[in-house]
Amino acid sequence: MKLNFHKLRYNIWMYFILFTLGIMCIVWFMQMIFTERYFLENTRANLVSTGKELAASYDNYRSGEGDSEEMFSAFRDRAVRAKEIDNIIVVVTTKDYNGESAKPLPEHCYPAEEAMLQYYGEYGNIINKAISHCEMLLSDEEEYYCGLDTSEENDTGEVYVYSAVIYQNTDESAGGTDSSGESAPADSAASSVPDAQAEPDGQAETDAQAEPVYVVLISSLENINSMLAATQKQLGIITLVIIVIAFFISMLIASSLSNPLVVMTDAAKRLARGDFTVEFTASGYSEIRELSDTLNRMKEDLQKTNTLQRELLANVTHDLKTPLTMVKAYAEMIKDISGDNKEKRDKHAQVIIDEADRLTVLVNDILNLSKVQANVDLPATETVNLSLLTAKVLDHFSSFSEKNGYTIHSEITPDLFTECDPQKIEQVIYNLVGNAINYTGDDKTVNVLLSLQDGKILLEVIDSGKGIDEEKIETIWQKYYRASETHKRPVKGTGLGLSIVKAILDAHGFRYGIISKKDEGSNFFVEFTPCAGDENE
Ligand code: ADP
Repeated sequence: MKLNFHKLRYNIWMYFILFTLGIMCIVWFMQMIFTERYFLENTRANLVSTGKELAASYDNYRSGEGDSEEMFSAFRDRAVRAKEIDNIIVVVTTKDYNGESAKPLPEHCYPAEEAMLQYYGEYGNIINKAISHCEMLLSDEEEYYCGLDTSEENDTGEVYVYSAVIYQNTDESAGGTDSSGESAPADSAASSVPDAQAEPDGQAETDAQAEPVYVVLISSLENINSMLAATQKQLGIITLVIIVIAFFISMLIASSLSNPLVVMTDAAKRLARGDFTVEFTASGYSEIRELSDTLNRMKEDLQKTNTLQRELLANVTHDLKTPLTMVKAYAEMIKDISGDNKEKRDKHAQVIIDEADRLTVLVNDILNLSKVQANVDLPATETVNLSLLTAKVLDHFSSFSEKNGYTIHSEITPDLFTECDPQKIEQVIYNLVGNAINYTGDDKTVNVLLSLQDGKILLEVIDSGKGIDEEKIETIWQKYYRASETHKRPVKGTGLGLSIVKAILDAHGFRYGIISKKDEGSNFFVEFTPCAGDENE
């Protein structure tokens, strides 16, 4: 099967997948850029705050206020917590010590000698580097050093290191200064000189204690790196799952949108081939249901129009055939019978002329209707004396009504002017009066009234016929509609009269309508907009 990428289905599917991929790319990008940075920042902040807490605790202990054993134990507890909770190694040492087993551990250091040797064995380089960094920073008056140690000589992998001076005896006689620059009491060291790894024993300050004491905190990034790797793995799996889900969801949405359209397209194709039995059935989204309802209504209208068109064709053909038959018959009669008899020949020739006129009217009506409806022939408006125009139309009917016993009563208010196309409005009045004569009752009376009412010129053509059923009132204006009941019409109609009236009045924008009651007759009315009369009229 050949894929057509212009299809709605593939487009929805493709955009959905692209959208999902886009979102996943953003998530990946954020993960790559920000997560690692976030963890590092967090580790650094944690190291700094732990370092500061330890420095404060150590300072309390060395300042000699309170029970030094208790103070040292508080410091040790904080260091143990740092190791257990945050996996931070805490070392309190001097620059000279250097982790050599031969050298005794200076006083006030942490942890005990055995652990210290192990830390120096593992992190000796890092501890020494951290102390040198700290020394350099001290000259820049920085409070602490905190940075990444990524050197390959570390067996321990990447680590974050914090270092600070937590005790410095600047003046042996006056006392020390801690990392925060606060003065320790002169006798603080002397009064609290416990062995850091043993119980404080109140020994006097020695020379070794005069050199700065550093705290070094080491946090391995191994955990973070493995956590990041695990997160990335998880994200990879989530990405895959999301793409698969997006694929199926988009397929589902695409099919639920395109399937009803495909079904409706098939039905529309059948309708185009003239199959009016098709039904547009669609469920699901309300827009699609609305479309299918509209198509069903369109189908019904088409079906109706189609039926009416066929009826019209039959009627028009019939109306064309009758005069043509008459023309042929009378022409033959003139040829065979009445050729030499002038009186008869004239009579027969007159029939031919009348039938030819009828044909002309019929053909003209068909042409007029199609022209007005196609809006080819826009009304050429001018100021028209409607009173005179109406009288002129009624004049056309006068000899006819006299001959056939019809009475046309008229009440025309003189000099009512309107802006309109006179030829077209003449045809409107002609069609309405012609219909009234055709459909009026046995009294053969038609009333035509033209008056000014409520600021409008009102034309009313009233007959006393059978009237029009209420449900048919809308239909009779429709194209091609013609009453099914056959009935003898004194005025030759074509079945297009009211369609032409509607098209002309719509083009002019005049209001019109019918007031009709069953068996009481009909009143066809038109409202014209009055205007000032033309002096030359
Ligand atoms: P036609 O009169 O030639 O059939 P029209 O378009 O003029 O065509 O009229 C359409 C239909 O409207 C008529 O067939 C008739 O059923 C109905 N109609 C028109 N005028 C009247 C009227 N004055 N009284 C009753 N029915 C009418």
